[in-house]
Amino acid sequence: MVHHIPVLVHTPAHAAIGPLLTYAAGEGVPPGSLVRVPLGSRETVGIAWTTQRRDEDAGAATLEAEVPGLRPIAGLLEGVTPLCSGWCQLVSFAAQYYQRSMGDLTGQQLARRLAANAKQLAQGPAQPVTRADQETPALTPEQSAALARIQAGSGPFLLFGATGSGKTEVYLQAAMRVLSEQPDAQVLVMVPEINLTPQLEARFRARFEPQYGPSSVVSMHSGMSNPQRLRSWLAAHQGPARIVLGTRMAVFASMPRLRLIVVDEEHDPSYKSSEGARYSARDLALYRGRLDGAKVVLGSATPSLESWHHSREAAQGGRYERLLMPSRVGQGAMALPLLRRVDMTHQPKGAVLSPPLLDAMRQRIGRGEQCLVFINRRGYAPVLRCDACGWKSACSHCSAFRVFHKIDRTLRCHHCGFTDKVLQACPECGNLDIGTQGRGTEQVEEHIAELLADLRRPGSQSAEFPDGEPVRVARIDADSTRLKGALQAQMAAVHGGEVDVLVGTQMIAKGHDFRRVTLVAAINPDGALYSVDYRAPERLFSLLMQAAGRAGRDASLGAQSEVWIQTHQPAHPLYAALKQYDYPAFAESQLQERQQAGMPPFSFQALVRAEARTQEAAQAFLVAASAAARSEMAAWEGWTEILQAVFLYSAVPMGMQRVANVERAQMLVESANRGALQKFLAAWQPILHSSRKLPACKGLIRWAIDVDPVLV
Ligand code: ADP
Ligand code: ZN
Ligand code: ZN
Repeated sequence: MVHHIPVLVHTPAHAAIGPLLTYAAGEGVPPGSLVRVPLGSRETVGIAWTTQRRDEDAGAATLEAEVPGLRPIAGLLEGVTPLCSGWCQLVSFAAQYYQRSMGDLTGQQLARRLAANAKQLAQGPAQPVTRADQETPALTPEQSAALARIQAGSGPFLLFGATGSGKTEVYLQAAMRVLSEQPDAQVLVMVPEINLTPQLEARFRARFEPQYGPSSVVSMHSGMSNPQRLRSWLAAHQGPARIVLGTRMAVFASMPRLRLIVVDEEHDPSYKSSEGARYSARDLALYRGRLDGAKVVLGSATPSLESWHHSREAAQGGRYERLLMPSRVGQGAMALPLLRRVDMTHQPKGAVLSPPLLDAMRQRIGRGEQCLVFINRRGYAPVLRCDACGWKSACSHCSAFRVFHKIDRTLRCHHCGFTDKVLQACPECGNLDIGTQGRGTEQVEEHIAELLADLRRPGSQSAEFPDGEPVRVARIDADSTRLKGALQAQMAAVHGGEVDVLVGTQMIAKGHDFRRVTLVAAINPDGALYSVDYRAPERLFSLLMQAAGRAGRDASLGAQSEVWIQTHQPAHPLYAALKQYDYPAFAESQLQERQQAGMPPFSFQALVRAEARTQEAAQAFLVAASAAARSEMAAWEGWTEILQAVFLYSAVPMGMQRVANVERAQMLVESANRGALQKFLAAWQPILHSSRKLPACKGLIRWAIDVDPVLV
């Protein structure tokens, strides 16, 4: 008897129609098995899929099997146990929810890597053993209470804990309990950025390896080599890994005995993939927790408004349990730094650093303390311009200006990469006096060094510097850290006290523990208050809270630490709430605004983005597809309600309308009912596909649906 086996393979060619191909096999193949199958003239690795559908709504388009003349399966991949049904369900749910093919979600993750590394499968993991047995500290009362709730309840939990309140310690001990109670349990811990994994990995290894062995803790992130990632993947799938630490991709790790999922810094936009299958790893973690019966703990000092809303009182409809840890731990119970707002309307016009801030910095440096200065633009100046004729350094491929980088005297487009040398004269009129507009990290670094040129580092007198050494200003941003290991080296210099002032982008706000920093300054954060992106205030608040958490980590210095905000709107409610470090007050006011405006989490959104040679074609595609949706679906039985519940906005150019000579447009789709939006999107997919063939859409390059979009 010939069995028909649906197999999930990842091929770009099949991405559009759904990646399940049917193959023949002489005997049944257990679902989840990794199989070698012919595809065209080559062989690839796929996953034997279950044919049963979880529910009737399962997207017919994605699960429809295609029958390519039923070629036989070449064989099972030796030495790999089948993927469990929970994992397959996770992938199939994610594909339906995010309107992508399953292969898009798992392809890069798995099959290709397995195929490329099939030889290694039999080899055991080879990881260095670290033996730094770490004492388990006695928990504070707040930590104990949170841990007790996590043990007693079923979750999901939102651990709302100040920076330095000891959230990581709670994760560690929650994981320890799970592992000691269930001999084969596994724990997944996610962090938003690769840069945060080494610190965390060291802490988890020190705690778990002595008891659970050298391969009990593995990492999974895009900074690892393919063989490394494969080893981690296999160790979690069938080997000794009990704890997986990783970035958003780790949500798809195969962990057959998963019992606890931690999403640290759950508010971080990096959990939402910004290309390809645009999934939210945080949201999938919650879904996965339900599927696998694993508890989910979301942690943050500034939760996403969604999670905050979901963790309101149960009586008001809250679904998550909110756990509070407001106090910072450590000797002297470091207080959060004092927040000062400088009213820039009363400062000398054009001042980058206001006189009071500069004075405060000089005092700090004079005492041997460090300052951190934030500015959210890298480069020297965002625009180069000619006052004589009005020329500006526009990118010829994008609707953006090219940024002036003084260090190598280039103009660089931060969107498409187009770079060339800076001209000595205006390219339009030949004027020799071209100037800059706005300031980036490079210029602020240079400016601060000039302003502090007369200052000497305390206690640095030597034969070479009888009066002491000049102050050291350093910069950390995407440019200064491009080389591998550069960030670590620069961080080490800061930690080692070799730097007095550190200038940087938000890159330095996250997770790093700067013990000697006692002054943090945001010199121009107002932009987020006027942004068209309705999430910008939320991100600014969280960034400034995180930045504040960088100051005063050293108990002996903590009490006198300060955060300085230079603003033209000192009375703005965001800064007023920030001054009190009152996230709940900020969140309540934001949620009220969102509710009044019918924005998420009070509505659900999807964005269809189209890219084309011309803006007309991109918009024509969106307009045609939405018109077709209305006319076709209106005739369908029982669809009146769905169509009434879903609102399609007009097609508009994207904020960045043109990137690398590609025109971009988008259309927002919104509904107060998530189910209706999902049904609509699933039914709309085939209509979108056929719309691209219309003559008006000639020049369309690609389109994609982004469910629960976040603009970053
Ligand atoms: P968070 O993740 O909330 O920012 P961490 O878990 O990193 O906080 O804790 C901050 C610092 O306090 C760390 O150096 C950690 O080792 C220490 N710490 C955490 N919990 C305790 C405790 N119960 N007793 C002593 N030190 C603790
Ligand atoms: Zn000119
Ligand atoms: Zn460009």
